Amino acid sequence: TRTVPREAAKPLIEFRDVHKYYGDYHALRGITATIREGEFFSLLGPSGCGKTTLLRTIAGFEDISSGVVLIDGKDMAHVPANVRPTNMVFQSYAIFPHLTVAENVGFGLRRDPRSRAEKAQAVADALKMVGLEGYGNRAAHALSGGQRQRVALARALILKPKVLLLDEPLSALDRKMREQMQVELIKLQRQVGITFVLVTHDQEEALVMSDRIAVMFEGQIAQLDEPETLYARPNSRRVANFIGVMNFLPARVLAETAAGVEIEAPGLGRVEIPMTNVSRVDAGDSGPSVGFRPEAVSIGTPEVTGTQTRVTEGVIDEVVYYGDMTYYDVRLDGSDAFGQEVRPVRIAMRNVFGRDVLGVGTRTKVTWSPGSLVLFR
Ligand code: ATP
Repeated sequence: TRTVPREAAKPLIEFRDVHKYYGDYHALRGITATIREGEFFSLLGPSGCGKTTLLRTIAGFEDISSGVVLIDGKDMAHVPANVRPTNMVFQSYAIFPHLTVAENVGFGLRRDPRSRAEKAQAVADALKMVGLEGYGNRAAHALSGGQRQRVALARALILKPKVLLLDEPLSALDRKMREQMQVELIKLQRQVGITFVLVTHDQEEALVMSDRIAVMFEGQIAQLDEPETLYARPNSRRVANFIGVMNFLPARVLAETAAGVEIEAPGLGRVEIPMTNVSRVDAGDSGPSVGFRPEAVSIGTPEVTGTQTRVTEGVIDEVVYYGDMTYYDVRLDGSDAFGQEVRPVRIAMRNVFGRDVLGVGTRTKVTWSPGSLVLFR
């Protein structure tokens, strides 16, 4: 978790019921959201959900069909892209290969009235910021993918935008480089304090980098929350499935109180789900279900048990070993409670040196607590 003052920060970008049509195609369907000053904000969703379109409405590269986009309280309706306090870093970080690194970074300062020496200093500062100190005289075409990405960032940052817009900036990099750049981008964002808005279809990337994430499907925001909330309390099965893995069991609602909802589910028995963990089902879901993440449940008897801890048993049906983790698919006792057998549940256990990985067919205890369950109803 990051330490940006969240609620205290003032709104910087506001979308009010924004719609966008491409001809007959309804690409943005009523976007209402606020991005706060200084936050690292991500637009996350599958291909075609409208995240790039929404980003482009901030930059002014895309006219909206109806609604309002405000930046710093000002309606952007008639404000052209080139005078907005925004700057965009593209997927295919378009740098000029025939120019030097310094010329690339200083490109946006062509009409800046400052002296040559002052501009050179600004370029040097920007290069330092992205970890390319001393690279100014290199030919841009001779850089690696990661270095080009940094040049593109420096070129955007030198213009001191209020908002930096990043459209899948890391997608062209290999996994190692991408992970490294993720960490660097977070550090950079904290250092410069500029609001970053990132478009990504990679849920892990969004979780790692963001103060808040808007999950988008089909032109709408399905959920806007901090990473931890999105992960632990997704507001629908669809969001739960998009962000990581979640087990679902069919549930029967027995009673409802102010504190929670009492349900019965195969393998879990009767349990009261706290009201904070009650989400909605989407059209297409077949009735209420209870969900939990693979690491929210553990195998064996835990050393520490709270008053809420529940222990059940099951048989290991499948084992997938990952080195640091093992996934166990476990058929919980009583999993045929509703007349039909439900699928084994997936449980993730961190591997510990000296502790054996359990084999298929092993009977084991399974420990969980109601607070780690989410009810979709
Ligand atoms: P991706 O990750 O694939 O880029 P995205 O979520 O960013 O997806 P957008 O690029 O915003 O999606 O596009 C949203 C929808 O609008 C898509 O169905 C796309 O085909 C359509 N679209 C985007 N730009 C245009 C355009 N200029 N003309 C017509 N349709 C468009």
